[in-house]
Amino acid sequence: MDYLAGLNPQQRAAVENTDGPVMIVAGAGSGKTRVITYRVAHLIQKGVDPFNILVLTFTNKASKEMRERIEKVVGSEAKSIWMGTFHSVFAKILRVEAEKIGYPSNFTIYDTDDCKSLIRTILKEMQLDDKLYAANIVYNRISQAKNNLISVAEYINNPALLAEDIGNKRPELGKIYETYAKRCYKAGAMDFDDLLFKTNVLLRKHPEVLNKYQHKFKYIMVDEYQDTNHSQYTIVKKLAAAHENLCVVGDDAQSIYAFRGANIQNILNVERDYPDLKVYKLEQNYRSTQNIVEVANSIIANNKNQLEKNVFSANEQGDKIKISRAFTDNEEGKLVAEAIAQERTGNGLNYTDFAILYRTNAQSRAMEEALRKLNVPYKIYGGLSFYQRKEIKDLIAYFRLTFNPADEEALKRVINYPRRGLGDTTLDKVSVAANEHGITMWEVICNPHQYLGGRIPNQLNDFAMMIKAFAAEANKLDAYETALYIAQHAGILKELHSDDSVEGRARYENIQELLNGVKEFAEREDIEDRSLAIFMQDVALLTNDDKDKDKDADTVSLMTIHSAKGLEFKNVFVVGLEENLFPSQMSLTSRTDLEEERRLFYVAITRAEKKLTLTYATSRYRWGTLTSCEPSRFINEISPKYLELDAIKQAKPSFSSGGFDTERKTWSQQREMQQKPASQQTAFKPKPTTSILPKAHIPTAGFTPSAANEFQMGMDVEHEKFGFGKIVQLEGRLPDVKATVFFQGLGNKQLLLKFAKLRIV
Ligand code: ATP
Ligand code: MG
Repeated sequence: MDYLAGLNPQQRAAVENTDGPVMIVAGAGSGKTRVITYRVAHLIQKGVDPFNILVLTFTNKASKEMRERIEKVVGSEAKSIWMGTFHSVFAKILRVEAEKIGYPSNFTIYDTDDCKSLIRTILKEMQLDDKLYAANIVYNRISQAKNNLISVAEYINNPALLAEDIGNKRPELGKIYETYAKRCYKAGAMDFDDLLFKTNVLLRKHPEVLNKYQHKFKYIMVDEYQDTNHSQYTIVKKLAAAHENLCVVGDDAQSIYAFRGANIQNILNVERDYPDLKVYKLEQNYRSTQNIVEVANSIIANNKNQLEKNVFSANEQGDKIKISRAFTDNEEGKLVAEAIAQERTGNGLNYTDFAILYRTNAQSRAMEEALRKLNVPYKIYGGLSFYQRKEIKDLIAYFRLTFNPADEEALKRVINYPRRGLGDTTLDKVSVAANEHGITMWEVICNPHQYLGGRIPNQLNDFAMMIKAFAAEANKLDAYETALYIAQHAGILKELHSDDSVEGRARYENIQELLNGVKEFAEREDIEDRSLAIFMQDVALLTNDDKDKDKDADTVSLMTIHSAKGLEFKNVFVVGLEENLFPSQMSLTSRTDLEEERRLFYVAITRAEKKLTLTYATSRYRWGTLTSCEPSRFINEISPKYLELDAIKQAKPSFSSGGFDTERKTWSQQREMQQKPASQQTAFKPKPTTSILPKAHIPTAGFTPSAANEFQMGMDVEHEKFGFGKIVQLEGRLPDVKATVFFQGLGNKQLLLKFAKLRIV
């Protein structure tokens, strides 16, 4: 049992206590995921059949890593464990059981774009205002209803079941939900939330199916339990009811998906649901330095709603947390890229030791640009997935239609791509006829004379023949041959080949890449059914991270904090720490939302093992305008004793002579004081964002505090807020020299040189 030697006594107890309900609620980096991994290995070592083990993780990547680790202990048996995200595991079960709830087993999975497109069609048909009923809002409401297991009928009877709908500003939502559900059903399609919602329906309506899976999954483990929603909670509860061998692990301080319906309450419910529950505490953080752990603890202490936890690290004290200020988002990118390049060579690290985490995907642009300039290789996780690219979705839509011609969204996507003279008018006619007769668009297209009046374009028949031919070929050919046949005969390869712009070539290459992926799949020996239909099934659930190409490449990881959950890196940069960005503007009006942002910050900083750098810019392009930014309140919440901030050290003498206690001021109060004459010194308050300069005025180099004796009259200088200017007068004696600077468009400004950060240009 030497594999258990890598566990502390509490972890080991949780691993060895395999029977009965177990819960671990513990802080970041304390080994929760490690406990699940070892527990599975231990079960198999004890003789449990891997087919009887179900492990639910938050990302596909996490389950892949876990499986690899388990394989090291138990060998190839690890392959048979049911392990994956809620969506992928239950999609797999639904493929087997779908017919029991009236779906074909080859049902399509609609991705978010498909869903929104369907919603827009419905809004158009119902002639609703698409501002009040924005597709996004409608999609979120339907999603929320499903994740709370609220059926169409229940919602129509009582819209106030969703708190957001109290007051009933959108009285047609129930009707939209109803039509949406019917249309998905008719199209043989499920959206992401359906994968869980319909699983619940299946388990509720078919006790024999529930019984089968209860006995199959004798041992169930769930990682990141704090982020499960009601629908997931109910599935787990039902499946675990027979054996109660359930182990859930989580950290309430890392609950960051409330906005998508996750419910921290689920953690508390476990104690209520299982009176025999054994709760284990893990207090030692093995991931990070003491400084990082202490900072994380102090940050999360600002949240009112949390379970008491002690987390400590016995690792080295470690470096202080570095705060870097940039002038613009581009400069922020440059600063981060340079630091990575330097630290990599200086400390003998790999690029994979570095991660750049941001609040919103849009922030990756500046980072990417800067990394490219320095030839630093990187990989973006999440973001626009390979499978979400237009050309890939187009070809996949043909695949989808081949196997499920009822799939309306796929049909709408490609009926006129490449162009074949079947424009919107024809499509509308087909759609109206389908709705009128309660049949699918495909049925209309196959029998146009029966359902459509007027002249019927020949191309409609040609299109139907083509799709039927694809289906016939798919029966004869292997996955790769089928895919290639479709790409050629649908005209996609030709269409893309004729576009020789850079983008066109890239699109063509992407199609090649997809075909290569299919080829690899067709050659796999570890699965029985290698048809294109199988390859296609869960493509909507794949993300960029699941594409194996380059998986071992030495690259810096870029991702949103949401997708960094559970991961760890030696050296982490959390960028864009500015008010209105992080915490996000939307969170500033409610304590609950602000606390969720703070938990997100906690997740971000606890990804770091050795070194943590927080950066912010004082101006940034947002929504097309340059906005000035204030540093995030979260930086303020860190005690200065943990921070490395050159400017503070430099400023200390003048503060101490003025009688300030620098230790007790937050770092940004200190910084504010550096910049302002003593008479104006006030506590730090975030200002609302305002639009300032046009882009041409944005300087890119770094600023350092001015040394008053360097300046002379007539010098060209640059100021952090005011931009470029010329010194027109200098008066007073060191260290209190006052400069009058003429700034273009602003006129003369008087600045105390020791506070104003002027740069000579
Ligand atoms: P998070 O809350 O971020 O998901 P976690 O609680 O799941 O964190 P793990 O990822 O399991 O924590 O563990 C954090 C790191 O500490 C990992 O690198 C893990 O291998 C290591 N670790 C955990 N327990 C031990 C131990 N007993 N001895 C040595 N290393 C450990
Ligand atoms: Mg974990």
